[in-house]
Amino acid sequence: MPLFEYRCKECGHMTEFLEKADAKAQHKCEKCGSTKTDRILSAFAVGKGGSSGSTGASCPTGTCSLS
Ligand SMILES: [Zn+2]
Repeated sequence: MPLFEYRCKECGHMTEFLEKADAKAQHKCEKCGSTKTDRILSAFAVGKGGSSGSTGASCPTGTCSLS
């Protein structure tokens, strides 16, 4: 599930939410209460970090050409 950051257009406060990519939820700025927020894709919430060099069975980026 992707992690989105919402940046408030009013005060610039950033808030992170985990939600579906096609979610249409309006998020309020927790600082000033404005609903004028820009959604920014922050990162994918995967449990693993780091690259040891060995490629596993699944492609982490989705760009590998699997036959
Ligand atoms: Zn705000």
